[in-house]
Amino acid sequence: MFITLMQRGIIVWVFVQSCILLLFVLHAFLAYAGERPLPLTCTYEALIWNVDQKRSVEITTIRHPYQDLSREEVDPLTGCTVCSEDQSRIDVPPFPVFFVCSKIAPRLHAVFEELKQKNAPIFIVIGYHVIKSRGKIDHKGNRTGFSNHSFGTAIDINPEQNGLYDHCIQFGPACRLIRGGERRIGIPGTLELHDDVVTTLKRAGFRWGGEIEGNQKDFMHFSITGY
Ligand SMILES: [Zn+2]
Repeated sequence: MFITLMQRGIIVWVFVQSCILLLFVLHAFLAYAGERPLPLTCTYEALIWNVDQKRSVEITTIRHPYQDLSREEVDPLTGCTVCSEDQSRIDVPPFPVFFVCSKIAPRLHAVFEELKQKNAPIFIVIGYHVIKSRGKIDHKGNRTGFSNHSFGTAIDINPEQNGLYDHCIQFGPACRLIRGGERRIGIPGTLELHDDVVTTLKRAGFRWGGEIEGNQKDFMHFSITGY
């Protein structure tokens, strides 16, 4: 009787240990299959935009443990970060190579594959690019908030033909160019509301800067988290 009880105890013990081991293996497998492991370090180079000089005036190199990410270094809507370790390369020839947040990379890759089939006139693409170009202005005239390019959640297409304008409720001669090149409608590469580039990106959930309500129009710019 005593031996039987002991045997029973051993069987239960072995069973419990096996369950724990199985759960551990399952957890490890799900973590591996579901998400990439978090990087150890966050590294990036940040530019700072000065509103008086209308150019980037400072570059700072940042490197710190990934677990020490501050609130401003993470986009609350997507979870994308300013870290270069969180960006993925999009390489769809003949279009230029660019980087975006890994969470949206598959979607953008599919968009560019589609635009390749349509022979879309895309000459320049700028994706991930860490720059403080929005938000409050400090005493030196420097912006203090990260743009959405900083998180890899926005792309600029053909900036030479699709400038950023202000005083521009509706596009016309009154609009004032602030950045990029003059918009020349009808020239290949100039973006327009119903062309392949704008419609394909909008269908994939991107908003076009050419449709910003109000004074500014950023014709080169597409973003998933707003303008
Ligand atoms: Zn942009």
